[in-house]
Amino acid sequence: MSRHTGPNCRFCRREGAKLFLKGERCNLEKCSFERRSYAPGQHGQGLRRKQSDYSVQLRAKQKLARLYGIREGQFRSYYKEASRVPGVSGENLLRLLERRLDNIVYRLGFAPSRKAARQLVRHNHIVVNGKRVNIPSYLTRMGDVVQVAERSRQLEAIHESLRRSRETVPWLAIDKVNLTGTVAEVPGREDIPTVAEEQLVIEFYSRV
Ligand code: SF4
Repeated sequence: MSRHTGPNCRFCRREGAKLFLKGERCNLEKCSFERRSYAPGQHGQGLRRKQSDYSVQLRAKQKLARLYGIREGQFRSYYKEASRVPGVSGENLLRLLERRLDNIVYRLGFAPSRKAARQLVRHNHIVVNGKRVNIPSYLTRMGDVVQVAERSRQLEAIHESLRRSRETVPWLAIDKVNLTGTVAEVPGREDIPTVAEEQLVIEFYSRV
């Protein structure tokens, strides 16, 4: 699956849920899903047929991948890793996705969306444990300190995002003054505010 460059709002309408892919716009009346909460395309408003198990699982997988902005190959490798380690595979999968550096930057409020967070990381604005890291999929560990790079601390986009930022998650300790966050603990499922049916995703990959 190549990187998607078309309109993101179609994803929300296709998955029947707000995926918050566009930052502040998602909280405004301009949100496409608020105005047209039916599937995109010519038959989007047509009668919904009963979905097969496979189709339900596929949609759950697509929804989660789109939410985190992950391509198919990488998403499948997360599934493999989640199944390999001990514990509930669905929860392991979510934990892996949450540990991604772009997600941490988003959760800390340094960027209004995961897509914007990816840009910050790619453009060398983020430092992990004192070292520049420009790989959005970098997997953070407990105790890692994620900071806005010294030269980027005046970026208005970061301060604007922090001013508007949503509540943060309990497993990240944030210091808004020093634009720093620490991965304080491994999150439990109840600490991950992602609305997802992760077990269906595991079932999807288990059968293909
Ligand atoms: Fe989804 Fe945000 Fe677009 Fe609304 S504005 S449809 S939540 S991406």
